[in-house]
Amino acid sequence: MSGALVTPGRSVRERTAAAVADPDLQAALRNLDRRLRTGTDLARGRPDLRSSAAALRRRTTAELDAHLTRLTEALEEAGAHVHPAPDAAAAVEAVLAVARRHGVRRVVKSKSMATEEIGLAAALAAAGIEVVETDLGEHAVQVAGERPSHLITPVIHKTVGGVAATFRVRTGAEVPGEAESLTRWVRDRLRPQFAAADLSVTGANFAVAETGTLVVVTNEGNADLGMALAPVQVAVVPVEKVVPRLADLAVLLPLLTRAATGQRCTSYVTLVTGPRRPGDLDGPAELHVVLLDNGRRRLVGTRYEEMLACVRCGACLNACPVFRHVSGHAYDATYSGPMGAVLTPLLSGGRRGAELPWASTLCGACTDACPVAIPLADLLVHLRADLRGGDPVAPRPRPARPRSLGAAAWARTWAHPAWYRATTAVAARLGAVVRILGRWSGRDLPPPAAVRFRDWWRRRSCGGGGTAR
Ligand code: SF4
Repeated sequence: MSGALVTPGRSVRERTAAAVADPDLQAALRNLDRRLRTGTDLARGRPDLRSSAAALRRRTTAELDAHLTRLTEALEEAGAHVHPAPDAAAAVEAVLAVARRHGVRRVVKSKSMATEEIGLAAALAAAGIEVVETDLGEHAVQVAGERPSHLITPVIHKTVGGVAATFRVRTGAEVPGEAESLTRWVRDRLRPQFAAADLSVTGANFAVAETGTLVVVTNEGNADLGMALAPVQVAVVPVEKVVPRLADLAVLLPLLTRAATGQRCTSYVTLVTGPRRPGDLDGPAELHVVLLDNGRRRLVGTRYEEMLACVRCGACLNACPVFRHVSGHAYDATYSGPMGAVLTPLLSGGRRGAELPWASTLCGACTDACPVAIPLADLLVHLRADLRGGDPVAPRPRPARPRSLGAAAWARTWAHPAWYRATTAVAARLGAVVRILGRWSGRDLPPPAAVRFRDWWRRRSCGGGGTAR
């Protein structure tokens, strides 16, 4: 990752507290709340697309290697060079090797979480190559020296006025403070960069195994312009972006754009199959595709395989009551919100983001919002347990521990209605004990109700003529 956090703190607890106390951040989040929720609501309005997409993504991840083989063949048949990258270092080295071979001095880059994940911009800069982020929000983040704070809207942590102020301070230019004029100012600043670039770096929203086609979705046309003008293109494509057939895009594209931004279709959807051919008006003379694994393929066959269905729409972030109050920097990870809280420890084998699964209320809003029905809340619960052993997907024996024995005895006791009734009858009188246990386990356990629900219901039902059980 490159760029700084704007939310200070060593732990997620400290960072969330700092985020909530930051008036500028809270103002920025309030402004965007309605727009982001609209997208989530629109995606919910198409349950037919959601179930088709969920089934399609699960079928694909279950046979991921077969689809990747087919994709590699199709990409090479179309004239692209394929670089399988088992980890971030291999992916960065593949891009640097291309840059060295072509004597690249200047790179235009479009927004891509995969390149954030591998720290590509910092690696290119360290090699003496100038990198220009060309998405407006991503450019603002780059100029500020910060990290993106959302999958789709990287500068969600700033208001329009805040973005303009950043440009003013960092460039010393007269920068307009109104959104449309500011956009025009950034566009004028970026246009010459496209013409001067030696290399264009993009991600891909999908990669079609059937045809070797990369699919790039943007609202600003910046990725398209970079691909059209630069002589060489590198696309960094995480392996789970593979889709079997071109026809699958008819399901996935409308769902992605609805869930991401509330649009029925984004402004630019570009399909790239191979480099420029004789007679083509534009496009790169050379196309390289870095297929990034970095801990993904090892999830296949585990209880976390479903996370590979993610299409990076950001809907779970927008729906999450924690993310909506603290934004992405509080997570201190490339991927934030509920999907980041699951993906970060999984991709790093538990070495990063092990505290993130606790940064959730487990309300289930993320699961409801996800257009491909990933059970995020369930995965967060599983991770809370599995991360105790380090790497959550490493096979390991599960020895019975005193705590597990206690839980087993508790489960056995409450499996019998008579025991359940007897123990809950005395629980109300043990409120102080429950509170002490809660503190001991590091949780805020609410004290038991003074009157049990079943007693309250029986009294109410008898009084109101209902049936008590
Ligand atoms: S987990 Fe679901 S809602 Fe969240 S970014 Fe991925 S696809 Fe979108």
